[in-house]
Amino acid sequence: MTNPYKIETKTGSISPKIKKEEQWQGYPNPVWHKKDKKKVTILYSMIERRKSFFIRAYLIRNGYKFIDMGDHIKEDVRWGKEYGNRMECNPMYFTSGSFIRHLFKLHNELGLSKEEIVEKYIFMSGGGQCGPCRYGMYPQEYLKVANDAGFKGFRLMVFSSELNDSMLDKDCAFQFNLDFRINMLISFVLADFMHIAECALRPYAVDKEHALKVIEDCENLLLEAFSSHFYMIKLPIALRKAGRMLAAVPKKNVKLPLIYMTGEVFANLAHNEGNYNMRRFIMDEGCEVIPGLFTSRAMYDNWRRAREAERGMKYAATEKEYKYWKKSLRRQHVSDKAILIFYNWLKKHFNPEAFGGRADLADLDELARLGYELYHPEIFGGEGNLEIGEAVHYAPLVDGFLSSKPFGCMPSSGVSDGVQAKIMTMFPDLNFLSIETSGDNEVSILSRVSMMLFKAKEKASKKK
Ligand code: SF4
Repeated sequence: MTNPYKIETKTGSISPKIKKEEQWQGYPNPVWHKKDKKKVTILYSMIERRKSFFIRAYLIRNGYKFIDMGDHIKEDVRWGKEYGNRMECNPMYFTSGSFIRHLFKLHNELGLSKEEIVEKYIFMSGGGQCGPCRYGMYPQEYLKVANDAGFKGFRLMVFSSELNDSMLDKDCAFQFNLDFRINMLISFVLADFMHIAECALRPYAVDKEHALKVIEDCENLLLEAFSSHFYMIKLPIALRKAGRMLAAVPKKNVKLPLIYMTGEVFANLAHNEGNYNMRRFIMDEGCEVIPGLFTSRAMYDNWRRAREAERGMKYAATEKEYKYWKKSLRRQHVSDKAILIFYNWLKKHFNPEAFGGRADLADLDELARLGYELYHPEIFGGEGNLEIGEAVHYAPLVDGFLSSKPFGCMPSSGVSDGVQAKIMTMFPDLNFLSIETSGDNEVSILSRVSMMLFKAKEKASKKK
């Protein structure tokens, strides 16, 4: 029987009937012009609800229309897989899936045509490092899913990415300038503070629902202060008040087993269905979990870039190359200083110690030193040496250690599956568990975590 789809060429090879060229050559990403500022709505999400919630303050103050896409839900993976490339990592499916789900929501629920959506909406997100990590590929994936779903020419604003040509245009309605970066930093710090509060109060509160309500009230209080043009004055006042409200929440006088959770940034810090709400699960099972701080993770990115710059300076072939790396190193130092100044300033007003909050940032030099023999700190990609350094650091301090990595992740799989096996032989009492988040398979994953928590409780009871 002859194949009706077969196309014979002179060389005898078969060329496909439909050729998709845009995804190889790059999709267009037109400029959002200042004159259209009021006509366009920004769709955005920042890994988890609280970070997206606080970045609203900047958008409100600057008169942007926006839709906060909030937390990820399980369904996002299905959307991501349907429109995305094959064999991507789980966070890419979650984030691109959430994006395309919201585009279809506008299309189906508001009855807007795809052309109207392209004209009236823009998506804002992050991009970033590459190496063995796929994070640098996210922007092109977002463009692909939108274009493949029929939203031809949909626009994107991506910070920390090369795909910023349209943003460099002076006439662009949105700029990733210093003001935005400072606001983004403060948003992440505030979200971290609320997460610290939840980790301190949820497992210990006499009345969990009351504690969660107080945290919600604090979130609203902080957002109101941060949304003001005088936020540099109002935010410290609001933080002091929030700290006092949290310190007044009645707590049980017990000592619970302590769990450390680490892993790839999304699988570790999503705090939603993207990682099965893992820290909440651990707390509701009767353990305390050390909060995962996005501020620490942001500092690791600076730390990594600084090491890259030092290496670049050492091996620079020309004066020009040397200067390029020297400038990069200076930039990382300035950025690090800024993060620390803001974090410590806000923390001083919030006073997390008053309600038992664990708010210390990771000592990245120390983690690199601890894990040096096992995972060279200059092997970059994903979380690099972090998980290993943390395992060595926390081995004598915690009752359970959980490494959460996404399905399809290259760097994190190499770490958890490979080097952590060695860690387990070095620290047999670590009570280590590695899980792979895929968006489904929840019952199986949570039952494995339950087993680890059971062992943690046994370990903690022997210490008493
Ligand atoms: S670290 Fe892994 S999961 Fe995260 S973006 Fe990179 S490849 Fe994907």
